[in-house]
Amino acid sequence: MGSGPQRTDILITDDRSDSLIALEALLNLPHYNLVQASSGRQAIERLKHFDFAVILMDVQMPEMDGFQTVAKIKEMAEFKHIPVIFITAIDKDERYVYKGYESGAVDYVFKPFDPQILKSKVSVFVELHQKNRILLEQSLRLQEHERNRRMQELAQQDLENLMRYRSLANAIPHIVWRADSASRVDYLNQEWVDYTGRKSSESLGSRWLSSFHPDDISNLMTTWRSALRQHSAFELESRIQAANGEYRFHIVKASPERNAQEEIIGWLGTCTDIEERKRFIDELANAKVMAEAASEAKTNFLANMSHEIRTPLNAVLGFADLMLNTDCDEDERTSGLTTIRRNGQLLLKIIDEVLDLSKIEAGHLQIEKSEVDLNRIFSEMHNLLGQRAKDKNLVLTFHSSSDIPRYISTDPTRLKQILINVIGNAIKFTNRGSVDVEMSYDQPELKVAVADSGIGIDPEKAHLLFQPFTQMDNSRTREFGGSGLGLALSRRLARALGGNIELKATSLNGGARFLITIEAPARAQSDHFAPSKQDSMATQPGDIKKLEGVKVLLVEDSQDNQILTSRFLTLAGAHVDIAQDGIEGIALAQTLSHDIILMDIQMPNLDGYSATSRLRKQGYDRPIIALTAHALKEEKMKCLAVGCNAYLSKPIDRINLIEQIRKCLAEGPTTFIPSSDASI
Ligand code: ADP
Repeated sequence: MGSGPQRTDILITDDRSDSLIALEALLNLPHYNLVQASSGRQAIERLKHFDFAVILMDVQMPEMDGFQTVAKIKEMAEFKHIPVIFITAIDKDERYVYKGYESGAVDYVFKPFDPQILKSKVSVFVELHQKNRILLEQSLRLQEHERNRRMQELAQQDLENLMRYRSLANAIPHIVWRADSASRVDYLNQEWVDYTGRKSSESLGSRWLSSFHPDDISNLMTTWRSALRQHSAFELESRIQAANGEYRFHIVKASPERNAQEEIIGWLGTCTDIEERKRFIDELANAKVMAEAASEAKTNFLANMSHEIRTPLNAVLGFADLMLNTDCDEDERTSGLTTIRRNGQLLLKIIDEVLDLSKIEAGHLQIEKSEVDLNRIFSEMHNLLGQRAKDKNLVLTFHSSSDIPRYISTDPTRLKQILINVIGNAIKFTNRGSVDVEMSYDQPELKVAVADSGIGIDPEKAHLLFQPFTQMDNSRTREFGGSGLGLALSRRLARALGGNIELKATSLNGGARFLITIEAPARAQSDHFAPSKQDSMATQPGDIKKLEGVKVLLVEDSQDNQILTSRFLTLAGAHVDIAQDGIEGIALAQTLSHDIILMDIQMPNLDGYSATSRLRKQGYDRPIIALTAHALKEEKMKCLAVGCNAYLSKPIDRINLIEQIRKCLAEGPTTFIPSSDASI
């Protein structure tokens, strides 16, 4: 672009070259660009290459005269506005002049013309043309400016949208990402940075892949490629590494971004942490499997229990029948009764074990620690289990491999329960040889190892040993009896006592060795434990009249139990009065003078709690012992709370009953102050 005014194109058309020269000489101005045409055709041709401000047109020309040429020009839309000045030497006849104007001329100049007039006419059109051009330029510039402004506005809007989209993406508690059509990630939100601990700039392109679990990458890429081929969204699970190094499962979802032509121009995706959900589902599935297994085990257990209960019941009922219906001599009678008693005790053991286990499962097991004399415990064990071993011709030995304190602190009932179970099993599952019980002590831990030479345990099944409701080998267990609960219960009890029970060694038919540990702190200055093997079976004190002259009121509604208990008592020398329920019990207690009351709890009309409570309120000061078929601790507490001195659970042990009566009588009259919560 020059600095001066732009030159304006002017077309001069004449078939005579001298005329052209003359016009050129006349209009020879620096800002004019004079373009010559020597014919109408040439003039039209020139139009295409220039932007003429004005056309000077000779009228008389061969081939196509000036009028015809201009008429053609006026037919062309883009040129019809160019002003035309006709120059002619011919007639000034008005018709001619009209013809000129009709064909589109704006002016008519006759030769000879006044050069100044022509010059000024041309200059008017040049000026007009220049002004038009300026106007056009201005309008173009305006349009351009408007377009730029609009573009800027759109760009600003785009930017704002982008910012909004980014803030939104950052506020979402999931990983949000974008990738281009070649799967190169070009955006990752703040959650990615927070989760992976990697800047998004370090993860763009394909670097994000290093945060994915190596085993998941191939599946991810295959799925993505196939989605690209099918133009579809995709979704899969994959592990992504967190900042702390942990891989967590995510669900990766992506949808293609398309342009107006439906071509994929990128991908928008999210990764959602589903680790917790997955864990929950796994746990649920495991819980289901376990629940099904537990349910199956319980069904098996019930079947076994039914069998285990029916077996001793069969002996009890069978022998009772036999003795009722046949004449049997004294020996047969003793043997039958011993069998009935043994089977009754076995039934009791099964019920106790089930109760204990359900208490442990429900978290209600109570441990009552006290100072325990190990000499007594092991002497009891020897007495109790020695007979069983002897019956099977087994050698049962107790010995210690280190100094053991005589007094330790633990729950004696639970410790005995464990020892009876494990040593009892050893005797039960051994037909020949010995059972060896070895103790050692390492403050505060007491260890008891029980080894036998019995049938042993299949090592492959040893893991089932301590599971409740799971019996190892039904066919073998049948031979020996048992509920399959003993070890499960014992292990839980040992754990409750701060220790454990483990199977240390075994082989099929090669015996088994169990190790029991319990936490049992020793008294500071304790004697040493010295197991005594001489303690024989305790003498049965039932024969001795220990309750000679004692007057007992038995309040009991069951006739069988009335007979049984009063027989126990009269055998021991007591005198017994019987009341059928609580009301009669109170009446008899008021009128007759008894030394002690044995009070059943569940009775019609007035139960044992209410009867005891009323008697105590009336100032009754003789001992009352509760008798109940419930074995729960809460039951015992309730009995004591209403005013009982002691509590015995059914089935009543004869020796224990006599001892308990003697103990209560020795304590003298009872002054009972009801506690606030003893509500009846
Ligand atoms: P059970 O009352 O049936 O004896 P346990 O829980 O005490 O129940 O024992 C479970 C199973 O473990 C037994 O049925 C038996 O198969 C096996 N078992 C336990 N102790 C021994 C042992 N000393 N020798 C061989 N097998 C044993």
